[in-house]
Parts: sequence; structure tokens; C-alpha cells
Amino acid sequence: MSNHFIPYGRQLIENDDIEAVVDALSSDFLTQGPRIAEFEDMLASYVGAKYSVAVNSATSALHIACLALGLGDGDYLWTSPNTFVASANVGRLCGANVDFVDIDSKTYNMCPEKLELKLIKAKEIGKLPKIVIPVHFAGQSCDMEQIYSLSKIYDFKIIEDASHAVGATYKDSNVGSCRFSDITVFSFHPVKIITTAEGGVATTNSEEVFDRMSLFRSHGVTREEKFLEENHGPWYYQQIDLGLNYRMTDLQAALGISQMRKLDSLVLKRKELASKYNDLLKDLPVILPFQEEFSKSSLHLYPIKVKANKRKEVFEYLRSKNIGVNVHYIPVHTQPYYRKLGFEEGMFPESESYYAGAISLPLHPQLTDEEMNFVVQCLKESLR
Ligand SMILES: *Cc1c(COP(=O)(O)O)cnc(C)c1O
Repeated sequence: MSNHFIPYGRQLIENDDIEAVVDALSSDFLTQGPRIAEFEDMLASYVGAKYSVAVNSATSALHIACLALGLGDGDYLWTSPNTFVASANVGRLCGANVDFVDIDSKTYNMCPEKLELKLIKAKEIGKLPKIVIPVHFAGQSCDMEQIYSLSKIYDFKIIEDASHAVGATYKDSNVGSCRFSDITVFSFHPVKIITTAEGGVATTNSEEVFDRMSLFRSHGVTREEKFLEENHGPWYYQQIDLGLNYRMTDLQAALGISQMRKLDSLVLKRKELASKYNDLLKDLPVILPFQEEFSKSSLHLYPIKVKANKRKEVFEYLRSKNIGVNVHYIPVHTQPYYRKLGFEEGMFPESESYYAGAISLPLHPQLTDEEMNFVVQCLKESLR
């Protein structure tokens, strides 16, 4: 069959999504209007968090999260090497030092045991992290209860990078409820679970953290009740900190609202597709995604692992068949920017070994049975 391109991820935009955006476009507010708060409330109540702040990307959300928690010069931020570069970069943007905690070989998530060992050593040399950012890889939550209990012993803050994991659960709560963290961040880039074109949200249960994130989202300028000094009059606004313009538009929020209504059905569809893959691939010499019992993944990705010496060949074969396979992720510490800071290959061997064999197969709500069978057939051919 088919020589059309099959992407690894793709948005699902339907008529109601289009109507929602068009409505916003002809309303009084293109930005800073009522749809922002509506989207924020919808998301916060879905995940079970008290507050949420919508911004123009997950990267921005991670950045204001770090700023709100006071990350600055000389501090340490730790994250997973198996992530998109943004999870680490936001630490550098705050002037902090970045370091990594290697992943678990089964889940590819930050390994709590390795985190503990690294914390013990860091304590000895007085370099404990101020913030740890666990990344819920492929939509499956990290073991947050363990990471949270370490945060109480070693006194660090937690930002969950849940860019992959809106719609996922961990134990009895939704990812984003911040039951075991200070802040959770979601991404709404089109390849993620739901989309606002570009966009992100940070959730929290702390009013203080919420206020600070809101401040950094919009220039450090604040409302009357938060003024530090005398009000000059009705025209007056006051800048009380150094912020940015990270605002989401009402067009994006309108899309977000209409996408939120479909979140559960989109995740369900991904689960059905992933379990089909599980069936179709079970006898092949590849390692399939591991599902923890304590969580339900939202299945942002379907990452398989092939033998490292076969990966390039398999990848190139699938691409030659117009199958948009991808690799998640090139370990962040091996990027030239981080190597210049002193990181080297070999430092985080589990993420390097996973990377060496990693291939993400196409997984998105519009993937048809025919396309999936074609992907599986080509994968079989390439493994021969
Ligand atoms: C996509 C992604 C980001 C960045 O999201 P943007 O909304 O594109 O800024 C950050 N972290 C992870 C793990 C991601 O997958």
C-alpha cells in the first residue's frame, strides 16, 4: 500500500475546534480575554489542582516555574537526560547549574534509586539541587511518591515535566494534581496529546507559586491588590519583578477548551492503538514499552528498542517507506552545548543505551489499521 507519509504524531482538529477558534477570532478579545481563564479552570479542575497558568509553550511554563521557585545563579537543577532539551535549558536560562539523573532501564524514566545515590553524594559536597524535574516519558508518570519522599529529606522542589502526560494517572490521582510536586507542566504542541498549536500550562496548589508564575508570565507587572507602592490612579500598573511576555492568546485557549473536551477519548484511542501494537509486535526481537502497574500512561509515544547495531538500518528502512519514525531522545548531556559545560558520553549509561536502540513508531488518534499494519510489516522486513 500507501506511499503517503505517516507521521509519528499528529493533531486531531475537527469542525468544533475550528468553530471555537473562529468564534474567538470574531470576539472582542484575541488575547488576555475570558477564554484564558476558562481554559485554565477547565484544565485545573480536570487534573485536580487548585491553580493553573496558561502560557505560550511548555518551555515557557518550565521557565516561569523555575523562576517562581526562586532558581538562580549558583543553584542546581537536576533532570533526566532522556528528555527534550527544554527540561534542562530552563535551568541554564535562570543562571543555574544543570545536572542529570540517569533513567530506569525498563520505564526510561528518572530512576529514584539513582536519584537517592546522587543526593547522598551531593549532600557530602554541599551541592544539593534546588529543583528536580522528573519527566514523564512517553506519557507514563515517574514514581512520584518516591521522588517526593526524597524531596522531604534533601529539601528540593519538584517540577513535573508532564509535557507527554496530560490525561495520565499516577496511583489514585491525575498527573497535574501536584500531589507529589510543587508544579506540573504540560505541553500543547501539535504532536502532544491535545494541542493549542503552541502552548503550555503550569499547575500548582500553592497560591504563592501561582501568583509568582502569573507575574513572570506577564512582565512582572501586577494588579492593584498586589501593588508594593502607592497607586497613582486608575491608569496605573506596577512592575514589581522582572518578567516576560509568555502569554497564551485567546485563539489558542479557544482551541484548548475544545480539545480538553476530547482529552479522555483521545487518550483512550491511543491506548487502543498501543495495545494493538503490543499484540502485533510481541514476537519480534524488539523491546516494547513497559507499563507500570501504579500508573496509566497517556501514550504520547510508542517507543521500541531494537538492537543498537540495527537501529540506523531499521530507522532508514522505515523512513524510506515514508513512515515518520523518530527518536526520543538524544541524551541531553551529549549535546554539544552540554558537552561544552563538561558533560561526556558515558556519564549516564542507561539513557545512552536506550538511545542507541530507540525508535518511536507512529502513534496518533488518526492512525488507521491499514497504516499500522503497514508499519508493522515494514518493521518486520527491516529486522530480517
Ligand atoms: C515538547 C516537550 C517540551 C517543550 O514543549 P513546548 O510546548 O514545545 O515548549 C518540554 N519537555 C518535553 C519532555 C517535551 O516533550
